[in-house]
Amino acid sequence: MTRKNRTIRTPDSLLEEKLIDQDDLTGVREVAEHYAVSITPAMQQRIVDLDDPVGRQFIPSEAELITTPEERADPIGDDPYTPVKGITHRYPDRLLIKPMHLCPVYCRFCFRREVVGPGEGMLSADEMEAALDYVRSHTEIWEVIFTGGDPLLISPARLRPILAALDAVDHVRTIRFHTRVPVVDPGRITDELVETLTMDTPVWIVVHTNHQQEIGEDARVALRRLSDGGIPLLSQTVLLKGVNDNAEALEGLFRTLVANRVKPYYLHHGDLAQGTSHFRTSIETGQELMRSLRGDVSGTCQPLYVLDIPGGHGKVPIGPTYLRTDGEAHQVSDPWGEQHAYPPRTSDDT
Ligand code: SF4
Repeated sequence: MTRKNRTIRTPDSLLEEKLIDQDDLTGVREVAEHYAVSITPAMQQRIVDLDDPVGRQFIPSEAELITTPEERADPIGDDPYTPVKGITHRYPDRLLIKPMHLCPVYCRFCFRREVVGPGEGMLSADEMEAALDYVRSHTEIWEVIFTGGDPLLISPARLRPILAALDAVDHVRTIRFHTRVPVVDPGRITDELVETLTMDTPVWIVVHTNHQQEIGEDARVALRRLSDGGIPLLSQTVLLKGVNDNAEALEGLFRTLVANRVKPYYLHHGDLAQGTSHFRTSIETGQELMRSLRGDVSGTCQPLYVLDIPGGHGKVPIGPTYLRTDGEAHQVSDPWGEQHAYPPRTSDDT
């Protein structure tokens, strides 16, 4: 499909660009009153069919109006861990800074969908200074993680003083950005941005991407530019029904990432965000998919399958497990499902 070189932000533009039908317009308008819409030119170009793995992630649907009882406005429980505006401090040695609530695209399954979108924009200069002060005064913080919204929507000129302030904090030894920009808006990965991200404190980037169909030539160039700039690259993927809930899609994505210098880091089980039940799989499905990758696909392509426990109780790996222990005896499953005994501990083991 040929589409215009502009970001789509309204139901009427979706109709104009033939991404929805006239019959969908009323429902999609209702969805858009609750949840922001944005599809960048790069992602419009990657949509081949409206119901394909890219279209399903970004084109609003009336299914988002259905909320199930277990769904929550704050599915991973950020709010109770917010000591100052813009910070989530859940784990002792690391915290999140959410400098802005805008994203280049709005994913229809987003776990922060109640708070991202136009409106709040960016932390003010005073709010950012208060967030930096919090980091300075908490010497246990080893890692600062920028998330959002999408922190790489911030211009290099505005990022530079924020990063310089963190670079000057002795106890902060690493900085991480979680972003969709390199894939969905790759033109933003400029030499100036790479230079801004290059300083004494190492900056890691975790790229959010869910299907290899998202990763066009311009995204590959952006990833190469970051990698050539010395920035280590990881990825995070959300397991999504109808997008990547099959072994072929996951294998294709993880191989593509590694081939583009990105180590698959997390496969997230879908969070209980409101209006997203049509995207969620069962945990058993996720475990089965992970099991199908193990053994047949290089270890470099294996992410950790994780769940953010609702209520803010943290993120944990959720299998599959290969070891069963009965008393002191272990049974280990190999990648193809065969069981093997592993000897119990002897007095010589340490
Ligand atoms: S880019 Fe991230 S924060 Fe923004 S809508 Fe997508 S999942 Fe949510």
